[in-house]
Formats: sequence, C-alpha cells, structure tokens
Amino acid sequence: MRPTWAEISLDSFKSNLGEVRRVVGENVRIMAIVKANAYGHGAARVSEVALAHGADMLGVATVPEAMELRETGITSEIFLLGGVDPREAGVVLENALTPACYSLEVLEVLSGAAVERGKTVGYHLKVDTGMTRLGVGVGDMESFFASAAELPGVMLEGVFTHLASSEIPQSDYTDYQLGVFREGLFFLDELGVKYRYSHSANSASLQRFPDSHMDIVRPGIMLYGSGSMGEVDLRPVMKLKTKIVQLRKASPGTPVSYGGSFVTGRETLVATLPIGYADGYPRALSNRAKVSIGGRLAPLIGSVCMDFIMVDVTDVPGVCVGDEVVLFGDGLVSVEDVSSWAETISYEVLSRISSRVPRRYV
Ligand SMILES: *Cc1c(COP(=O)(O)O)cnc(C)c1O
Repeated sequence: MRPTWAEISLDSFKSNLGEVRRVVGENVRIMAIVKANAYGHGAARVSEVALAHGADMLGVATVPEAMELRETGITSEIFLLGGVDPREAGVVLENALTPACYSLEVLEVLSGAAVERGKTVGYHLKVDTGMTRLGVGVGDMESFFASAAELPGVMLEGVFTHLASSEIPQSDYTDYQLGVFREGLFFLDELGVKYRYSHSANSASLQRFPDSHMDIVRPGIMLYGSGSMGEVDLRPVMKLKTKIVQLRKASPGTPVSYGGSFVTGRETLVATLPIGYADGYPRALSNRAKVSIGGRLAPLIGSVCMDFIMVDVTDVPGVCVGDEVVLFGDGLVSVEDVSSWAETISYEVLSRISSRVPRRYV
C-alpha cells in the first residue's frame, strides 16, 4: 500500500468543538460546518463525532454532500448553506434537508414539491448584508415576504447572513454588516414576519464578535484546528503523512525534478516521498516548503510532481528508507506554514487533500 495518509485526530476535533461551546455558552446552537468533506477530514466520521459531542446540527454546501450524510444514517438537521437548485426540491423534501433560500422562484418550486408530498419544508432566508455573493438585500425583504407569505408548504425557520471580513482585525466592516443585519431583522419584526433563529457567525466572528452569536453559530475552520484569533486553544486535527520510498546521493551540480529548477550545490542526500499535487499537496510549494523528518525540518527541492516530491535530508542524522515524514500538522510544520508558503489559506490546503489520500482516524 502506498504509504501516504492523513491522520485525523478525533480527540483534537472534540477539543476544538469544546472550545466553540466554551466561547458561545450553553444557549447558542452550534451548526458544525462539514462542507467539502469536512474541510478534507472526512464528513461522515467527523459529523458523527460532532453530533455526539455538542453540535446541534450540520451545515454543508451542496445537496450531494447532505445526501452522503443521510446515507450514513445521520438523522440530525442538515442545513444547505448555499441554497438549492429548483431541480433538487424533491430530494430536499424526501431527505428532510433545510435549505438556505434567497430566491422566490426556488421557494415556489419548494412549495410545490412540499404540497405534492403533503409535507412542509423549513427554510432560512439568506440576507446579503455586504458579502455580495448570495442573498436578498434588506431593501428587497418586503416584496420577498409579500409573495412568500402566500406560499403553502414552506415555513421560514431562520434568517441569516454571512460576514465577509470578520478575520481582519483592523476592519470595521463586520460591525457595519451586523448593523445592516439587525436593521433587516427589525424590519421583519415590523412586518410581523415570524421565525425561530437568526445567525451570522463563522469561526472568526464567533471569536471576535459576541454580538454575532445570536441563536446559532456556524464554525468551520476552527473545528479543524486553524483560524484562532488568539483567545482559543485550537489543536490541529489533520496530520498529513508519508514515508521515504527512496534515498539517493547526488553529487554537486545535479538537477532535481522536472525542469531542473533546483540544482544541488553540495553532495546531497535526496529522499523521494510518494505525495504530489494530485494528492492535494500544492505545486506552488515547489522549492518553498519544508517537511518534518525525525524531529528536523528538511527542505523540499525541485518541482512538486503529480505523485512525488523530493527533499534534501543531508542534515537528518540516521535517515532511512521507510522513515515517517510529516507534511503538516505536527509541532514543526503547521498547515498555516504550508498555506503561507503556497500563498493561500489553510481552508484551501485542507479541503483540497484529495480522495487518493486515505483518512485514518485516531
Ligand atoms: C463555510 C461557511 C461557514 C464556516 O466558515 P469558517 O470560516 O470556516 O468558520 C459559515 N457560514 C457559511 C455561510 C459558510 O459558507
């Protein structure tokens, strides 16, 4: 078997979820965000653990993601953050999913599908307060509800928004967005529109803006041990690991990997590792990353290939074929290190670890 895997610590995940609970208190519902295969950690296992340890509901991006969870026997509430396509209305009803909704057209189709089945579908209205992605503007709420109120089989359960800049300490945009959202909620009260939940907080805002907690919080990245804003103790959940498959001495002046973008400057012990960009290890790390071997950092040399990388292990004493290597997730290399070397964010690195990499739960 190819010795490349992602070790997932369910204890670390539980501990991070506990931190969310500690920050928000007992009276706020936690929607654990498990979209994109739980940010690469494996949605089925992670969801099960989340629900058993304090999450009240799950949030995913797409209907197929929700279906995967239903198929593994999860019966909790599953929220569709990104809304639904009208063609998915039947599946939403049959599987008791809770969609976000921002379009009257889609709500009408949901209403029809609900009436056909003698069911009711609860939905959350998505309000755009400044992300400029999805949602109904505050100014369009009145006409939305003028029509929505007439529709049978659909029930407004929640109203929510998404914050665009809550991780940026020097920005006051979150206060602005929360202000717009509160205005919207006040306006709904005036219209006599009833609902149970309002929500706005992702990981960064739940840490930085207690005002954003409302009835439900929607943490994603912090559950996976990244995105601390300073006051929480988060533990990395994923350790990406592999083993050395070959060791070779290269004399000075030897090019390494495609294109020879690295040429050895000394007698170099080169270790070949069976992980590459097809595993989700970014090609942008070519000649930039370090990996952890035997308690030391070893530099990646040359281009990242589809299935392999090479590292310089000349300075790692006693290194052998078969030695374990950590790409990120231990005390020496974090996913934040890797994402900054690749000029991206931890979300992207984690969620792109591909299905070729088996997840092992510990
Ligand atoms: C992904 C997502 C979240 C979680 O965001 P994090 O920054 O990972 O906590 C919350 N809400 C919505 C609408 C999302 O799409």
